[in-house]
Amino acid sequence: MADVIRLLPDHVANQIAAGEVVQRPASVVKELLENAIDAGATQVKLIVKNGGKTLIQVVDNGCGMSDTDARLSFERHATSKITSAEDLFDLNTKGFRGEALASIAAIAHVDLQTRRPSDEVGGHIRIEGSKVVFQEMVSVPRGTSISVKNLFFNIPARRNFLKSDAVELRHITDEFQRVAMVHPEVSFHFFNNGSEIFNLPETKHRQRIVQVFGHKMNDKLVPVSEETDVLQLFGFVCKPEYAKKSRGEQFFFANNRFIKSPYLNHGVVAAFEGLLKPDNFPGYFLYLNVDPQTIDINIHPTKTEVKFHDEQTLYAMIRSAVKHSLGQFNVAPLLDFERDANLDTPYAYKEKLAPVPGITVDANFNPFADSQTKQRGVSVAIPYTKKSPKGWETLYEGLSNDSEEAFSMVQIESDSEVQSTLYSEEETQETGTTFQLRRKYIVCTLKSGLLMVHQHRAHESIL
Ligand code: ADP
Ligand code: MG
Repeated sequence: MADVIRLLPDHVANQIAAGEVVQRPASVVKELLENAIDAGATQVKLIVKNGGKTLIQVVDNGCGMSDTDARLSFERHATSKITSAEDLFDLNTKGFRGEALASIAAIAHVDLQTRRPSDEVGGHIRIEGSKVVFQEMVSVPRGTSISVKNLFFNIPARRNFLKSDAVELRHITDEFQRVAMVHPEVSFHFFNNGSEIFNLPETKHRQRIVQVFGHKMNDKLVPVSEETDVLQLFGFVCKPEYAKKSRGEQFFFANNRFIKSPYLNHGVVAAFEGLLKPDNFPGYFLYLNVDPQTIDINIHPTKTEVKFHDEQTLYAMIRSAVKHSLGQFNVAPLLDFERDANLDTPYAYKEKLAPVPGITVDANFNPFADSQTKQRGVSVAIPYTKKSPKGWETLYEGLSNDSEEAFSMVQIESDSEVQSTLYSEEETQETGTTFQLRRKYIVCTLKSGLLMVHQHRAHESIL
């Protein structure tokens, strides 16, 4: 029987690779933006039409490519970023697999214009479904411009699988934001169907997050930072009160790359323990820098899933750093305008020592001396009689000495033992009529006028 195994032609292999690398327009946006950053661009422009289905264009002012490189960049495993397998653990570029452009060119119409700063003229290549349609010299600004049109034109099944323009635009925006947040030193422009969506001038990390999410974000951020031998961590978490019902604002960046890590995410959530309402997710923007030797980025074609050598240590560090920041933030007292001032200690009492309570014992008092209990050997139930609240004012003895006190009881006519201390004895005694109004207020005439005391409030204040 004849042999059956044969090598697949390049364009088929590229289409298969594209299945992994390019899931939707947003994947193309990610790869092109990353190439622009790797090219050292300081200005990057992203232009999309119809959710990226019709056009995705990225224009940068980076290093550009020679004519030959421009042609080679569309070959599979063609890259300028690594030369050997060891380089995989010494990466300082986003790309390294050399398959993004080859994959994209296999499933779309691609136009590339590029010029190195040292060259006078640049090159223009058009590729459709992995086939070079033409290559020519052109006069173009320095840098590179790549247009990707009619994505999945030759794979109808994939094209039909795409969602509405709005949904695809949402995915593109997510990718754009992820790249923009790692590179605040680069200015970004983003246009959709001719209108500007983002204009992000170069800045610092915190401001970039605010540029992307709006100025309200600035008040929500609490800085986090930690530096150890294995990890350099900085970034921000959102204050717990701004936690959301969705995971929208959760970002980990490892060595300048957006990554997804459910495990490390758990570490951050654990730091928020007890501070969040159920089913709420904390927002965070955490930038991790680890030794490239200790991170494996090559475990998934889209490079958003990575493997850290010592994930548990990172988990513990992230958790403790976030906890520490939240703690520091909580140390600052908040002004609470909803507090009930009635429950506060009166100002005049703030510095005052509590009076030592005194006990006076009547040595001759005999509770059984009552006539009903005098009969020997007979136990008699003593009927409970509710005592009248007479004499309650004695509770405030010990306070009554201080004639300066703002809160004290006034003399009630029916109970001559209680003395006024708010006004001088002389004053109250001379004018002296005190009476109770509606069992609520104590009204007293003074030499200088009339005094009304809310009985219950006065009681509470003293307590
Ligand atoms: P990778 O980024 O993994 O190397 P790509 O297929 O994305 O693979 O790109 C292939 C090569 O093309 C890159 O290594 C780089 O040399 C070159 N290249 C791609 N985009 C640009 C760009 N915008 N500016 C300059 N060179 C680029
Ligand atoms: Mg790349």
